[in-house]
Formats: sequence, C-alpha cells, structure tokens
Amino acid sequence: MDDLLAIGAAALRKAALNESAKEYILKDRTLFPILKRAADRYIAGETLAEAVEKVAVQNRNGYKCSLEFMGESTKTEAEAVEATNEFLRICQTIRSLGLNSTVSLDLSHIGLAISNDLGLHHLDMICKEAAQSGTEVIVSAEGTERTDAILETYQRIAKKRDNISITLQAYLHRTKDDFQHIIKNKGRVRIVKGAFETEKGLSVPRGSQLNDAYLGFVDQLLSGKHPCSIATHDAFIQQEAKKLVDHYQPQAGLYEFESLYGIQNERLAQLKAEGYATKLYFVYGKEWYLYVCNRIAEFPLNVFLALQDVIV
Ligand SMILES: Cc1cc2nc3c(=O)[nH]c(=O)nc-3n(C[C@H](O)[C@H](O)[C@H](O)COP(=O)(O)OP(=O)(O)OC[C@H]3O[C@@H](n4cnc5c(N)ncnc54)[C@H](O)[C@@H]3O)c2cc1C
Repeated sequence: MDDLLAIGAAALRKAALNESAKEYILKDRTLFPILKRAADRYIAGETLAEAVEKVAVQNRNGYKCSLEFMGESTKTEAEAVEATNEFLRICQTIRSLGLNSTVSLDLSHIGLAISNDLGLHHLDMICKEAAQSGTEVIVSAEGTERTDAILETYQRIAKKRDNISITLQAYLHRTKDDFQHIIKNKGRVRIVKGAFETEKGLSVPRGSQLNDAYLGFVDQLLSGKHPCSIATHDAFIQQEAKKLVDHYQPQAGLYEFESLYGIQNERLAQLKAEGYATKLYFVYGKEWYLYVCNRIAEFPLNVFLALQDVIV
C-alpha cells in the first residue's frame, strides 16, 4: 500500500512539473473545476479579496496569519513589476483593514530570477510600504541555486529596514554557517526543514539528524531571545519545541508556531488551545497548480483527501 501511494505521489510531482499537462488541465472545462475542488483545501482563493476574508476570520479565531501571492521564477520584468504591485496591494490592505498578518514572498517571484538588483529593488519597495503599518515581510527559501542570492539580498535590506525576516532550511549543511551570519541582524528567522530536491551531499534527509539540526536552531534562537518562527507540521518537532518554549519563556512576539493552511491544522489549533503563539500561512492566486500538487505529493495519504474533495 505504501509503495502504491509513493508511486502516486511521485506521478503527481512529475505532473506538477509538466507544463503541457498543466496547461491542458487548467484550460479544460471539466478537469479544471475538479482539480480546483481539491485545491480549495490548501489555497485561500484566487484573489486578494478572497484571501483577506479568510485571514480576517482566522484573526478573529486567535491566529496571527501570513499572506503570500503565489508565484516563483518570474521570467520577465513586466511580470515581476506586476507581482510586486500585488504585494504592495497586500501591504495596503493589511494596513487599511488592520489585519494581524505578515507578508511572505519568494524573491524569484518579484524579480530575483531576472537580476539580483531587480529583486533587491522590489523587495525594498515592499518592505517600505509594509513598514507604514509595522508589517513584517518574510523572505522564503528556494532551491540551492538561489540560496546565495537570497541571503545576500536579505542582508542588504536588513541593514536598513527592521521589518524584514528570513527563512532558513534546516536540511542544508550550509545553514549551520549561514545561521551565524543571519542572526547578526534583528529580523525573525523562520526555520523550515526544506522542500526542494538538492544535489547529493548538500542536504540531510528527513530523520533524526535533521530533527536534531532543526531543534538546535530553534534552541539557539529562543535562548538568544531572537525572534523566530517554528514552521513545521511535524508533531515530534512541535512537541520538542514546546518544551524549549516552556523552558526559555520567550516574550510575546519572539516566537510562533507556523503551519501552512490546510495541513495538519488540528495540531496548530491544539497548540493555540494550550496557549502557544500560532500563525496560519495563506497562499492565494491563480498559480496554484504546482503548489497544490506538491502539497498532495509530499504526504501521500493526501491523495485520498484529494479524491474525497473531488467526489463529495
Ligand atoms: C510556514 C511555512 C513556510 C515554509 N516556507 C518554506 C520555504 O520558504 N522554503 C522551503 O524550502 N520550504 C518551506 N516550507 C516547507 C518546509 O520546508 C517543509 O517542506 C514542509 O513544512 C514539510 O515538512 P515538515 O516540517 O512538516 O516535516 P515532514 O517531515 O515533511 O513531515 C512531518 C509530518 O508532518 C505532516 N505533514 C507534512 N507535510 C504534510 C502535508 N503536505 N500534508 C499533510 N501532512 C503533512 C505529516 O504528519 C508528516 O509525517 C515551509 C513550511 C511552512 C509550514
């Protein structure tokens, strides 16, 4: 059974990367609404207005939130400008509605894949807009071919703005060194395990060595009173991190347990009920195909949830 699910998940990952399959499905009047039903479990909607409604509801339920307009690896300057304008609209909406939400983004979505200067310029514009309401902007981690450019861009903006945060991937061997440079800045560090395939030798697979590395970073952040986000759906890591939070007693705002919307949210609800700071990460936009295929594929039992969403 496990083998079958793994084969299904691998096929889904392949389908996610197949451009013609994607175009066919998204244009097909029968297939599109079926897949969209499975997608609705993971995305906040296709528009900012839909996403904002969900954020407002979850704020009222006691969650801090994060909002991302989905996309990555933008190829033209015009598209990068368009994406940047959408992030500026997110910042303005958070301010005008008084939402308790941060902004998350992939630098390659706003121009880094075209040139480092363009990514830097657009990130600076977004941070400046977000700063008007004290809103935090969190830069995501991407594939290893971009790690240097992302960290350098972060360092440059962090020198002049204090509302910028960064994501580090615990599975990369290099993160041990990067971490020491990054924590010289004041910005929040979001620790994730890491989602991308890497070349052999660059990363640690899922398992106890990775868990130790992950919790080691969380320990250093909490003990150093450095703002951090514990971004995971892993019950073991959440339980161990809880012990660290209980031990170091960080002040409000210095830590948060963060999960992606639609994934193991019962665990996040439990943490909230126990009094821990929690955050829900919402994505929205029309580019949901790759995101959703990856969310289903990374946990093969989700194939059944997708079938249920499509059929019921
Ligand atoms: C807020 C947030 C931001 C992130 N930002 C980035 C980023 O910038 N760069 C990056 O590389 N990665 C990012 N990730 C993804 C991260 O790297 C992991 O790939 C992802 O969180 C899955 O790893 P895990 O820690 O949940 O542990 P895993 O070892 O992958 O999973 C542990 C357990 O969590 C549960 N689980 C995990 N995934 C799913 C799923 N899809 N559906 C149902 N249950 C699941 C299962 O119970 C599983 O056994 C982010 C994750 C979060 C939560």
